[in-house]
Formats: sequence, C-alpha cells, structure tokens
Amino acid sequence: MSSYNWIDHTYDVVVVGAGGSGLRAALGAAQAGLRTACITKVFPTRSHTVAAQGGIAASLGNMSDDSWQWHMYDTVKGSDWLGDQDAIEYLVRNAPDAVYELEHWGMPFSRTEEGKIYQRAFGGMTRNFGEGPVQRTCAAADRTGHAMLHTLYGQCVREETEFFIEYFALDLIMDDDGVCRGVTAWKLDDGTLHRFRAQKTILATGGYGRAYFSCTSAHTCTGDGNAMVLRAGLPLQDMEFVQFHPTGIYGSGCLITEGARGEGGYLTNSEGERFMERYAPSAKDLASRDVVSRAMTMEIRDGRGVGPEKDHIFLHLNHLAPETLHERLPGISETAKIFAGVDVTKEPIPVLPTVHYNMGGIPTNFHGEVLTKKNGDPDAVVPGLMAVGEAACVSVHGANRLGSNSLIDLVVFGRAAGLRCGATTEAGARQPGLAKTATDSHIARLDKMRNATGDQPVAKLRLEMQRAMQSNCAVFRTGSVLKEGVDAIEDVYKKLPGIDVKDRGMVWNTDLVEALEFENLICQAAVTVNSAANREESRGAHAREDFADRNDETWMKHTLAWCDDAGKVSLDYRPVHEYTLSNEIEYIKPKARVY
Ligand SMILES: Cc1cc2nc3c(=O)[nH]c(=O)nc-3n(C[C@H](O)[C@H](O)[C@H](O)COP(=O)(O)OP(=O)(O)OC[C@H]3O[C@@H](n4cnc5c(N)ncnc54)[C@H](O)[C@@H]3O)c2cc1C
Repeated sequence: MSSYNWIDHTYDVVVVGAGGSGLRAALGAAQAGLRTACITKVFPTRSHTVAAQGGIAASLGNMSDDSWQWHMYDTVKGSDWLGDQDAIEYLVRNAPDAVYELEHWGMPFSRTEEGKIYQRAFGGMTRNFGEGPVQRTCAAADRTGHAMLHTLYGQCVREETEFFIEYFALDLIMDDDGVCRGVTAWKLDDGTLHRFRAQKTILATGGYGRAYFSCTSAHTCTGDGNAMVLRAGLPLQDMEFVQFHPTGIYGSGCLITEGARGEGGYLTNSEGERFMERYAPSAKDLASRDVVSRAMTMEIRDGRGVGPEKDHIFLHLNHLAPETLHERLPGISETAKIFAGVDVTKEPIPVLPTVHYNMGGIPTNFHGEVLTKKNGDPDAVVPGLMAVGEAACVSVHGANRLGSNSLIDLVVFGRAAGLRCGATTEAGARQPGLAKTATDSHIARLDKMRNATGDQPVAKLRLEMQRAMQSNCAVFRTGSVLKEGVDAIEDVYKKLPGIDVKDRGMVWNTDLVEALEFENLICQAAVTVNSAANREESRGAHAREDFADRNDETWMKHTLAWCDDAGKVSLDYRPVHEYTLSNEIEYIKPKARVY
C-alpha cells in the first residue's frame, strides 16, 4: 500500500453535496449556530440542480385556486400509493413557506401582472382532487434550478458555511457500534486526503442517472453517496423505481421541460395524431410522466413513431405565440436549436423517453435521519447519518415523482434536516477521537483503483453497464428481460478486478475519479435491476408486462436492498406508512390510478 497522510478536520455538521438540498441543509445547520462544512466535487453552482428547468411546486394559489390538500392528493396518487403519507403531508404543508423563503432571499421568480410569483400547469397536478389542471408550479422562466441554486449559494456564503470545493468524498467513517463519525475526501487539485469528523454527516449527493446510457442528468450524477451507504453495509430503498422523462431530445437526451406541455405543447405520432387523448382522456399530455412515457413507447412499438427509423415522437410548440416561447421557455428554445437543429416557432421537436430521476435512494424519515432495519425495527435510525434530496428516499415520490416535486423536496427536507441538526446537536460538543486505522479500508479501496493494472478500460465497462440498464431495466419490463439484466450486470461486476487505470498520480487524476464513480454506479445498477426483477407487480414507473396490475395486498411495501463487495444483492422490506402526520387530513386510501 502506498503511504498517505490524512489531514484532519472537525465540524459539528458536514454536508456532502452542494446542490439545492445540500445547500439548504448546510444553510439551516449554520443558522442553528453549528460549525458547518459543505464538501462538493464540483463548484456548488455547477451541481445538477442548476439544470432544473420547469419549476417548483407549492400551492400558493396565485393563478388558480389551490390548497395543500389537493397537492397532497396529487402527490399520493402520483406515487401510486407507495409514498409515505406522513412525509407527503410534511412536504406539501411546508411547501408554500419554503417558496416564500426563497423569494425573500432574492430568487428571481417570473411574475404575474400583479407582481405575484408566476405558476404554470405540470403533469399530474390537479384541482379539487383530480378535477382538472391547476397552475401550481412556480417558475423562473425555464431556468428555475439556476435561479434557486445561485440564491441558496449566496445565502450559504452569508451564513459562513465553510466550503470544500473540488473535494471528492470517498467513504463514510463508521464506528464499531454503527454510528457515523464523518466522511473522508480526496482534494482533487493537490492530491491531499482529508478526514472530516462530525456529529452529523448529511449526504446530499444527488441521483445516479449515469447508470443508464441515455439520461438527462449531468455526468456528475453517479450516486456516490448511495454507494457509500451500500459499502457501509446499509440498505437503499425502492431502487427499482427509475423515472423516464417523456421529452428528452432524440439523440442527445437533453431535457425539454414538462413546462413546455404546461404552456400548451402537445405530442403527435407519425399520423399527426394527438395520441395522448386515447391514453389519458382527461389529463391528456399532462398525465403523469410514467403514463406519458409508456404511451409514447407503445406508439413507437405499434409502428407509429416518427422519423426515418420510426423511433421517436414529435413535441409541438410551434402553435404557441413566439412571445410566450421567448418569455416563458427561452432556455429550451435554445436547447432545441443546438441539440436538434429545430426552430421551435416553426417545427416540432423530436423527443424520446429518457432516464431522468431516481425515486429510490437512502431511506430516511421526514427529519432527514437515515433508517435501516435493525432487530426487526423498520424505522431504526442510523446515529450520526442523514440524507436529503435526490439521494434520499423519504419517501414522498413513492413509485413515481410528479414534475416540480423534486425542487420542493430539496428545500423542504433540506430545511428539515437543518432544523433537526439544530435540535439534536450541541455546538462544539466534544467528539470521540478517530483511531488511526478507522479509515484504512478507505485507503485500501482508493489504492486498489489507483494501482489497477487490468486490461478493461473504465469507459468500456461503464458502457457495458449503461447498455444493459438501458435495454434490460427500462420503461417496460418482463421477468426474462430483467433476469438477462441481472446476469449482464453481474458479468460487468466480475470484470471489476480487471479494471485498467493508467494515471497513477493524485493531482487532477480524472482517470481515477471516473474509475471510482464507475465503482459507485455498478453497485447501484445491481441493486436496481435485482429489486426490479423481484417486484412482481406494476406500480408507477415500474411497469411489468408479465404482472400488469398493481397488487396492494402483496406489494404495498418498500424494497430494501443491500449489496456486498462481490455485487451480491439481498432484499427485505419496510411497510409503507399508511397514516398522515396530523388529524387535519385523513389517510388517502388506494384506488385505481387513471388520468
Ligand atoms: C435536466 C433536469 C431538469 C430538471 N428539472 C426539474 C424541475 O424543473 N423541477 C423539479 O422539481 N425537478 C427537476 N429535476 C430534478 C431535480 O433537479 C433534481 O432531482 C435535483 O436538483 C437534485 O438535487 P440534489 O441536491 O439532490 O443533488 P444535485 O443537484 O445533483 O447535487 C449533487 C451534489 O453532490 C455533490 N457530490 C456528488 N458526489 C460527490 C462526491 N463523491 N464528493 C463530493 N461531492 C459530491 C456534487 O458536487 C453536487 O454538489 C430536473 C433534473 C434534471 C436532470
């Protein structure tokens, strides 16, 4: 083993990740008077949150009547009854205040004539428990995430959060009693290694879209925090639920926001037909994402795709007024020009369902505390460890997330985690020392990759994994296709010891970063495809052709998945919380999900 020296740091709270959720959590912890560090592998305002377009959901009722009860109903139905209703109630009730808080911090929202926050319609969002579309999604044109992330970063700087930028977090420091004591990180620009000791470690590392070949997420979305949790011997939850966004640009996968349909855009097949009218007679193009993605896939399968290969669908915005496009959707007009060569005022955009969001992740309660199943207790808290944002599974999105419900999840639960830190952590409290050997396994893993001498380039293994996930764990699934996927991912896993890393340096070694990210992705791919093969029903984004119906009796439960060093996955379950938080709303009972 090469010799390395650790540089030690001590904080009350350390947050890994500087996307919307990490910044909001760090801000809350700092406001509570706790010494807070935020570690991030990219500059904070380059986190994937910056790419969010359409908006952030909250029942402000600025443009049409609205209520948190309606938002709750839509979210429960969107989740196909896999969401925990106590957590969903917490989300929707706190949503308006979370948005006003952003407004007061200076977030530049689009405005109505009277100067109120502009809101647009989004998929699956309805008024009066399913009666018709509601304008609930607060927007800053089609650059909402950009506006939000810059606002939050400014506030964090004001509160003196200490940033560790371009530090790549490696692993969680867990003690023998299963308590999380902090995290280790590699400083990319000078090659030094760091141990962050903290009373609370908050993972806010985002999703793992890059396990797939075509996705809307940034190259940095490799779910590093999820993988750290698996390596710590803890489970991930509901990983079989992967959201495909209906409108990724054909070829590049770049996103065209659902807000485009919210502003009046619609889809057509090769016959020029607005086919969504057949699949979702009431909500049509604004049905939820799983429903629209499946409808598009069926049209293509039935030979009604567009283009020379009949393998995609058209999205029309060309009937909308050019001023509307310019004012409300300037970003996607530019994206369509660059990535599809299309002038949206004149021609339709070629689109295809593309991997977009991970409903699954690190199980937490609505305070952001990480859960595991211990001695039969499905709500056992892992001391010292928290998770927020796309990395976490609270679970408010259940089997399918509604558009614009992620940005609100980031700030509501980021805020909740900050509050929890304030309530459960004493500023400056003495922390037990770390044994010199406490992080030996972290070094061993880094060293193994750094000195790898195999003949399998990272890019080749990654591509094999991405192709297997894309073809074997996609919009429609069957037992045999998933079994093939399980085997294919196992084959890639077996090649891991033969990985080839050429650069042996420690300074800006992107070869090594990619190898570590790939190792993080492959265990999540294994957990995802195994969880999907195991769930013999259709619910939300998980559509099994061999088990076409939702089966509440057997399957209204969360999957928990562990993965060992050899890539072997084991599964167990947690019950869905069939209760609400307050007595102001009753538990919403399961029923058929039609739009
Ligand atoms: C193109 C696109 C458009 C979207 N539009 C919308 C929308 O309009 N509305 C909506 O509600 N949702 C939208 N979503 C979803 C939403 O944007 C994401 O779910 C959300 O932004 C994720 O935020 P996050 O804080 O969890 O993580 P991210 O923003 O992904 O940030 C992850 C952070 O973790 C850090 N990190 C990761 N690994 C490491 C490591 N090993 N070491 C150190 N740091 C690490 C990164 O540096 C980064 O700072 C969109 C998603 C995409 C991809």
